[in-house]
Amino acid sequence: MAVFVLVEHSGGTPDDVSRQAATLARGYAEAAGEPLEAVLFGPDAGGAAQALAALGAAAAYVVVHERLTAFAPQAWGRAIAELVETHSPAAVFAPGSERATEAMAHAAAFADLPLAANCVEAAPGEAAEVTRLRWGGSLLEQARVHGRTKLLTVAPHAVEEAAAVPAQTVVSEFTPQLGDADLVVQVVEHTQTDAGGGISLADAKVVVSGGRGAGSAEGFAPVEALAAALGGAVGCSRAVTIAGWRPHTDQVGQTGTKIAPEIYIPCGISGATQHMAGCKGAKRILAINTDAEAPIVANADYAVIGDLHEVLPAITAEIEKARAG
Ligand SMILES: Cc1cc2nc3c(=O)[nH]c(=O)nc-3n(C[C@H](O)[C@H](O)[C@H](O)COP(=O)(O)OP(=O)(O)OC[C@H]3O[C@@H](n4cnc5c(N)ncnc54)[C@H](O)[C@@H]3O)c2cc1C
Repeated sequence: MAVFVLVEHSGGTPDDVSRQAATLARGYAEAAGEPLEAVLFGPDAGGAAQALAALGAAAAYVVVHERLTAFAPQAWGRAIAELVETHSPAAVFAPGSERATEAMAHAAAFADLPLAANCVEAAPGEAAEVTRLRWGGSLLEQARVHGRTKLLTVAPHAVEEAAAVPAQTVVSEFTPQLGDADLVVQVVEHTQTDAGGGISLADAKVVVSGGRGAGSAEGFAPVEALAAALGGAVGCSRAVTIAGWRPHTDQVGQTGTKIAPEIYIPCGISGATQHMAGCKGAKRILAINTDAEAPIVANADYAVIGDLHEVLPAITAEIEKARAG
């Protein structure tokens, strides 16, 4: 009874959250004395075999279907449920991305199995013992997951990726039985979300965000200027997207993008729980706020207490001066 891990990838390169999920799945597989095997989707998934060997996967199932050319949550769920039915894995791990979580929810419904989302620890057993993030990361819950196959998603940026002993990955194709209903919802178009000169929010090493304290859409000019000077991406709070100052694709938080930059610079953001849920993965936080008592300041490694419209241009000017000199 192998342990499966769903691997999302871009052109055959597994993404960060999938490598983190593979780390947790590999630990679970080793504790159970079972091999780790991967499941991939996409026409270019075959090219990921080399990367999977580095993740320690002994086998990989590449899901192929003539009608499955883009992400289709129900079709992915159907394919995973069929793999569970035909291969009876001990567990299926998936990254806690929006796409994989949706696909796993469909898989759980099709396979009539429970699903534990946002796990950060997992140990095998008749009932798997898991620790998972609840309430936007403010609570750790210990739970037991029952069922013949345990279905788990792994909280993004909460598990540190660890190197594996490279394996020889045997790649095979798997064709699910898909009906029209499985393909009703599918991606038809991609829009580039280049908040900062082509850098995506989720992958950016530096993120500078603005909140209600920016005051208006135009008030984001100093936020954009600092992000550009640091080669980072621009983010924002939900108060900003609700006001229509920035698109929802820029929103950091529980109902926005989960980020894990080297440094996160929230400006004029109070630090509500739902916002913090999206930036817990940041290595360092530098808060800029007029209110020294704001929760974001308590959660930050560094803080500047002041008006962002004065502080940000001053920082940007210093960076430019240092570069020029
Ligand atoms: C179900 C649910 C999901 C949610 N999901 C999200 C989410 O994904 N992301 C998210 O962000 N929120 C989310 N929220 C909303 C969240 O609860 C807060 O309302 C929101 O984050 C507040 O945004 P803010 O910090 O920009 O605004 P405020 O809370 O109004 O804070 C503004 C801050 O700016 C400071 N300030 C004011 N002027 C200046 C200035 N000139 N210079 C510097 N600082 C200044 C103030 O001191 C204050 O701290 C969610 C809420 C719910 C109920």
